[in-house]
Amino acid sequence: MDSKTIGKSTQSVWGGEGFDGKYIATPVVRSVAFAYDDVDRWEAVAVGEQKGHIYSRNTNPTVAVLEEKIRLLEGGEAATSFATGMGAISNTLFTLLKPGSRVVSIKDTYGGTSKLFLDFLPIRGVKVALYDTTDLDGLEACILQGCDVVYLESPTNPTLKVVDLSRLSIAARKVGALVVVDNTFATPINQNPLALGADLVLHSATKFLCGHSDAMGGLLTGRADLVKQVFEYREITGASLQADAAYLIERGMKTLALRIERQNSNAQKIAMYLQNHPKVADVFYPGLPTHPGHELAKQQMSGFGGMLSFTLDGTFEKVKKLLSKLTYSHMAASLGSVGTLVGPPRTTSHVELTDAQRAALGIPEALIRFSVGIENVEDLIADVDEALAKI
Ligand code: PLP
Repeated sequence: MDSKTIGKSTQSVWGGEGFDGKYIATPVVRSVAFAYDDVDRWEAVAVGEQKGHIYSRNTNPTVAVLEEKIRLLEGGEAATSFATGMGAISNTLFTLLKPGSRVVSIKDTYGGTSKLFLDFLPIRGVKVALYDTTDLDGLEACILQGCDVVYLESPTNPTLKVVDLSRLSIAARKVGALVVVDNTFATPINQNPLALGADLVLHSATKFLCGHSDAMGGLLTGRADLVKQVFEYREITGASLQADAAYLIERGMKTLALRIERQNSNAQKIAMYLQNHPKVADVFYPGLPTHPGHELAKQQMSGFGGMLSFTLDGTFEKVKKLLSKLTYSHMAASLGSVGTLVGPPRTTSHVELTDAQRAALGIPEALIRFSVGIENVEDLIADVDEALAKI
């Protein structure tokens, strides 16, 4: 069967499998380097004439299985990997942007990415234009003024705004710019940015892909020539993924489609419950018909995801009180796990930013980010309900 036409669940399980044709679970190859019994074959691998591995900072058999799985799930030509999601983002941006390059992005990127745009890229002479995420016409016009890279995230972290990936990719193409999309929140189960016109898609594999909060990683897939450039940069910066982490992420990904199905459904029900609660001010979830990006999300996503956020009718003190009363949620900085995780942006997604930077990016201080797990949704709703009753 053609691996491109099989379903996402089958791809999640079988993608990249068949290590030497001998194993039914991917072996963890911890070897730092790979031995050869003749120099000619070693050299043929070194120059890319034959398949093989030389040194694990560059490629590794366990890591290669994971790279192939994401390539298949996202429909990319090639894939590579990184020690963390930020490794994927920073290596990609530093490969594609040079002094004098112009990058257009949105105000609502993940905090670490915002930090690159606000601090680390400008000091290297890159011109950064961060546009209002919901002003699509303005964003499109900003791209059409000319740029080298358009960097997008949808839905956004932590306010769940939906960005028109297809329309902005068309605008980018008109000015010869490359489009890079962070697909961490949606996952390849709910959204495939390459099919919507992006050139590269990247993930914090630490989140939904791994799914169990026990390994960190980053993945990049898309156009083969671009992936090769970023791979060659990463070989030297050394932000390589370790075989042990790759194994855990790859194992987690076997259940990705199943987990996401449950997380989509749990998040939808919790968002609907919160929307009707008198102590809740705003709920941000693209699956709600009242969400401004709902129609667009219906077009470009096949599910609305496991992330939502909301604000209380009250101050940050009330937020602190509510969070401490929850039983079935860890107060923790990550997301995308089988267990529910909650926290405000000032200690989660935007912890690296100053109060002023968060305010400038329009991140409400009293926002609660809710990464919905795979628990029974009735239990999660009862837990939130009890906690809300106590504040
Ligand atoms: N992209 C998004 C959307 C994220 O939420 C995160 C982390 O929370 C990252 C990238 C960075 O990933 P990592 O923590 O694996 O470096």
